[in-house]
Amino acid sequence: MSVKAVPAGGFAATVPVIVVGAGAAGICAALSAHENGVEVVVLERDSVPRGSTALSAGLIPAAGTRFQKALGIGDSPALFASDIRRKAHGEVDAAIIKTVAQAAGPTVQWLADRYGLPFSVVHDFDYPGHSARRMHGLPSRSGVELIDRLRQAADETAIPIILNATVSALYAEAGSRIRGVEITRPDGTRDSLGCEALILACNGYGGAAELVARYIPEMRDAMYFGHPGNRGDAVQWGQALGAKLLHMSGYQGHGSVAHPHGVLITWAAIMEGGFQVNANGERFSDESRGYSEQAAVVLAQPGGITFDIFDERIAVVARQFADFQQAERCGAVVEAATVGQLAERLSLPAAALEQSSAEVEQAKDAGTRDRFGRSFAGSLPLSAPFKAVRVTGALFHTQGGLAVDSAARVVSVGGDPIPNLFAAGGAAAGVSGSHASGYLSGNGLLTATVLGRLAGASAAAVVKRSE
Ligand SMILES: Cc1cc2nc3c(=O)[nH]c(=O)nc-3n(C[C@H](O)[C@H](O)[C@H](O)COP(=O)(O)OP(=O)(O)OC[C@H]3O[C@@H](n4cnc5c(N)ncnc54)[C@H](O)[C@@H]3O)c2cc1C
Repeated sequence: MSVKAVPAGGFAATVPVIVVGAGAAGICAALSAHENGVEVVVLERDSVPRGSTALSAGLIPAAGTRFQKALGIGDSPALFASDIRRKAHGEVDAAIIKTVAQAAGPTVQWLADRYGLPFSVVHDFDYPGHSARRMHGLPSRSGVELIDRLRQAADETAIPIILNATVSALYAEAGSRIRGVEITRPDGTRDSLGCEALILACNGYGGAAELVARYIPEMRDAMYFGHPGNRGDAVQWGQALGAKLLHMSGYQGHGSVAHPHGVLITWAAIMEGGFQVNANGERFSDESRGYSEQAAVVLAQPGGITFDIFDERIAVVARQFADFQQAERCGAVVEAATVGQLAERLSLPAAALEQSSAEVEQAKDAGTRDRFGRSFAGSLPLSAPFKAVRVTGALFHTQGGLAVDSAARVVSVGGDPIPNLFAAGGAAAGVSGSHASGYLSGNGLLTATVLGRLAGASAAAVVKRSE
């Protein structure tokens, strides 16, 4: 993944804008560039565009949307911005937070109104750290539906997405101005394609074990649950071009992946009044702080295994997610008439699980915080039939990356933008800061869609200025 000098003979073909990667960020960028009147080509490594976007629940946080208003949910970009800032421990540049918080609502509505994505708000449970119900998803609550609908939008707009096309190098002038890319095909043959502006939308470095070990040592041995083709190419090109890297130890983890089934169990199982115990049947944390930071907490438990304990009422809420339905189909969700029987089915010490359950119910009843500081305010008691899933913690995606400004321009170490290079989604530094605990639910697709749209518009402006 190198940066090369521009070939002496130039390029056989040139397009105004190239986008690297056909995930949510890349396709949003391409739609936006196209709308802004410039020709754009997307280059994608895989034979079918999937990316981490397809693995996600496809939920995008946005404030002040008409979908929220229709449900009577009061919210504003300012409230959203303060939630992002608080969760990220004040580490993230205020201007970027303001940009994404303000643009998220219009971006979700843009996708809905212009491209027909039928969003609705997840209105029946709270995501940790969000002061309002603002997660917007498609009917199946799955990222497969999101990426398929985005791809359909690109197809209908006649935006070429060239598949099996790994961008293996960039061509740049001495001052870092990008002139084109090298494309490697699965059979090893290489082409080159010139461009006037380049958008990096090839996500982060979760699929590069050596980069994870270097930047996020606490996740070195964790399962990576994101797309394996995200190998840190943007970061490596950025370094070669003198770009600034930011928050490289930041990441989104998740403390609730069914094991060994490998299916995401929605955090609704916890937030609606469920809890986690370890293999000793004991509680070990305040789960309500967030699922991202919970990954390392779960992995620190004996064997790196814990159990989500909830009930049928909560399962009804969880069933809106295609992933949860799949977990039920593959037998990951265990059911029992009593907590004692549940313990037996999970091979957990029954007395310890009953004690943990009693403590939680007592905290709900008394309205007090439990010994870990968790508030169960508003949570209903669990009742039969009880449910459980054996889970582990995993790395979902990296949040560090190329520093960008409010126009999604990649910023150099010296602080100036690189003239015609843009980044969005996991290729860019996110808004979570340098810790897993800084990740507010949805920060991933937030910067994929919002920065993607901005990057497309900014790249189009660069092209038009040069005409
Ligand atoms: C299980 C799971 C659940 C999640 N749930 C949510 C959620 O509900 N909400 C949320 O906000 N976030 C969620 N996330 C995070 C979210 O999926 C990502 O933040 C988001 O998809 C990133 O989008 P992207 O376009 O940057 O990357 P991707 O969707 O990963 O797309 C990057 C694309 O670039 C391609 N590529 C990489 N390198 C090259 C190269 N050199 N040349 C050509 N192509 C290349 C890849 O093949 C890939 O298709 C979840 C993540 C996981 C793993």
